[in-house]
Amino acid sequence: SHRITLGPLVAAIDQGTSSTRFLVFNSKTAELLSHHQVELKQSFPKEGWVEEDPKEILQSVYECMERTCEKLTQLNIDISNIKAIGVTNQRETTVVWDKETGEPLYNAIVWLDLRTQSTVERLINKTPGRNKNHWKHKTGLPISTYFSAVKLRWLMDNVDEVHDAVVSHRAMFGTVDSWLIWIFRYSHGDLAQSEELIRNLRSHEIWSSFGDPHLRGKFISVSTLRLLKPWRRSVFTCRVFVFHAQCLGDQSAALVGQMCFQDGQAKNTYGTGCFLLRNTGPKPVMSDHGLLTTVAYKLGRDQPACYALEGSVAICGAVVRWLQDNLGIIESPEELEKLAASVGTSYGCYFVPAFSGLYAPYWEPSARGIICGLTQFTNKRHVAFAALEAVCFQTKEILDAMNQDSGIPLTQLQVDGGMTSNRLLMQLQADILCIPVVKPSMPETTALGAAMAAGAAEGVSVEFRYARWKKAVQKSMNWETTEPIANGNGEPSIFSSVPLGLYVMGSLLM
Ligand code: ADP
Repeated sequence: SHRITLGPLVAAIDQGTSSTRFLVFNSKTAELLSHHQVELKQSFPKEGWVEEDPKEILQSVYECMERTCEKLTQLNIDISNIKAIGVTNQRETTVVWDKETGEPLYNAIVWLDLRTQSTVERLINKTPGRNKNHWKHKTGLPISTYFSAVKLRWLMDNVDEVHDAVVSHRAMFGTVDSWLIWIFRYSHGDLAQSEELIRNLRSHEIWSSFGDPHLRGKFISVSTLRLLKPWRRSVFTCRVFVFHAQCLGDQSAALVGQMCFQDGQAKNTYGTGCFLLRNTGPKPVMSDHGLLTTVAYKLGRDQPACYALEGSVAICGAVVRWLQDNLGIIESPEELEKLAASVGTSYGCYFVPAFSGLYAPYWEPSARGIICGLTQFTNKRHVAFAALEAVCFQTKEILDAMNQDSGIPLTQLQVDGGMTSNRLLMQLQADILCIPVVKPSMPETTALGAAMAAGAAEGVSVEFRYARWKKAVQKSMNWETTEPIANGNGEPSIFSSVPLGLYVMGSLLM
């Protein structure tokens, strides 16, 4: 058999929250030649905690690379033609490891983990006026559990191994891209960083996380940071071949992949969470409506950085997984569409999946999920529909904020991510946003006649439903507020304040 000559190939390690993928493309035609995907386990050791095993992540990358290369070899394609590999990662997920042994010092803390809530509260309390946006003019970000800087603070304060390694200058800290590349290089030197919240947006060393001396001291001591060097590009050897690597956070990578190179172009990625990024050109635009200002990409050392406004939603595809694993009302993500389409309406049910608090535009870590508007008639199909609507309403909130910040309404939305295979979701999204939703290379959008007709027959306008959604969001943020329960006379009911055990004992004695 003879080898097929295709010229240079390019590849990508796509290390996502729910899975790792390795993909190889023809660099001239952008044709996908081969790929492999491995699902990842997540653990939830305590309420609000989300972890992954860094070694399993690493192993999944190797497995994906090896399987993909085997497939290419079977296709008679020479893998030595792979000239460059991009690494995209699940951004704020944080890994700490020992630079002497290469051993992780703790599980990876996943971006949507909530354990840093008290760390965040402490940091906010220290700012004048207790303002979560105190450093926003520098970092573009609010102080939130989302970002890796507070996760590192938590690790240093709570994990002895990490604390000891920091004291003895053996600790390495980074996002998943840093961890992978450090391991690939078997080196003690440079490493990549895409961590947020310590970086000054406008410093010339745009990729340097520590450009701003005022910011860095707030989170971690300078000696820890000295271990890290600003880094973006490197040549290194891996088990398979020699390549150049270029790192981009997954959301920036999607912006580039969707060719959103023009100021004003935007894309929304529906994965575990949902992230809408709008290119704002070479100048950072500060949001007045709860969005993040972030560096989108910098394609080449001498190229100017390009910025984006970002609306981050913590829970999107994760709600699908929750319906499957925790409620057991579906057996696969695909089933959700059938279930929801069979009713075509939530029948007045609203589902705010604030499992990890609410991100943009609220940034409220204490919010919790609620399902409301239930009646005797509500069944799992309506809850399934409400879950899909929740994804769409959350996106609408972000889009509205973005339109207000930029003053120029978006006329179309490019979409991608695992959840976009749900066509009902895409149709609902277009209906709720009233603009075309465009999924690249999607087969002709099938009209979901029956489902949508049922929804239309309900006669409930989008505006009405959106207003109800907003009410549900308010409830999710105040669910813990203890209001006296009225007993009809406007008097608080005494029953609500009697502990259940005492109440039962009292009844028994009577
Ligand atoms: P990530 O990059 O965050 O790992 P992906 O883009 O790979 O996410 O998307 C995976 C998510 O998409 C999962 O949460 C999964 O539940 C969801 N998903 C996949 N297929 C469907 C579907 N047909 N309907 C609804 N959700 C889906």
